[in-house]
Amino acid sequence: MIWLDGKFCKAMQVSLLAHSLHYGGAVYEGLRFYKTDSGVRAIFRLKDHLERLLASASVMGMEISYSVNDLMQVAVQAVQRSGLEEGYIRPMIYRGEGIGLMSANISVHTMIAILPWGKGQESITLTTSSFIRMHPGSTNIRAKVAGHYVNSYLAAAEARKSGVDDALLLDYKSNVAETSVANVFFVKGETVFTPARENIFPGITRDTVIVTLAAAGRIVEERNISLAEVLQSDAMFVVGTAAEVLPVVKLDGKEFNVNHPAVLRCRGIYQRAIRGGLLGAPDHWLTYVD
Ligand code: PMP
Repeated sequence: MIWLDGKFCKAMQVSLLAHSLHYGGAVYEGLRFYKTDSGVRAIFRLKDHLERLLASASVMGMEISYSVNDLMQVAVQAVQRSGLEEGYIRPMIYRGEGIGLMSANISVHTMIAILPWGKGQESITLTTSSFIRMHPGSTNIRAKVAGHYVNSYLAAAEARKSGVDDALLLDYKSNVAETSVANVFFVKGETVFTPARENIFPGITRDTVIVTLAAAGRIVEERNISLAEVLQSDAMFVVGTAAEVLPVVKLDGKEFNVNHPAVLRCRGIYQRAIRGGLLGAPDHWLTYVD
């Protein structure tokens, strides 16, 4: 199920000469919708994702005529039409035909695709990447731009080749940054800590974890984290729309406690948040579809 520039359609073709295909300037989002405890479907943090989408489009100088509210309505209709109980939403804004980096008057398109989503893993293994995360002075790393994912792809592919699930990338200062598509958290004793926002893509799931832990009286430390400190940690978990909250079994030679109470607590809180069972969660986190 795809919505493109105002119309629902089944399959779509993009021009082989599309500007975004050649120069990587498309911006996109990834969201999930779930069957909540009351049996009704809801999209998790739809408004926040669409605000980030439009902010990314603005970074890339792409103007569209749809507001966050317009796209929220489209997403709800698209999920309704999909007939899926749970799934994934991929909105994207991209430039159409036009070769030449700074060609003028290239069309800008907006699409929202609904896809099925299978059951995820229960835990993952990581290796430290030989690739470093993009320098924050080389691009706007807060924007979710297709071209940024070359860095993620190379790191993840290298990790897979060495037999593990994903890569942990360091930033240009050799601090821990994130995995190819998720943010990372660590636990040492009672303390939960995560890399500061400066050199990472600050995910919405990361925000969900920080906000819900704070509401439960546990403040997450956001700061620089070295690999040496990681090796002293008791537990590590990755968070993202796709991963949700996923314990890390192993990073290189270091094994973590996947059943650490802090990790189980975060997993539990997140599951309640996405399924409407978390008391005190902000109302706008769930957009009901049915
Ligand atoms: N870091 C990177 C590099 C990502 O691609 C993603 C996925 N969008 C995340 C972190 C997690 O972001 P979110 O929680 O918003 O899905």
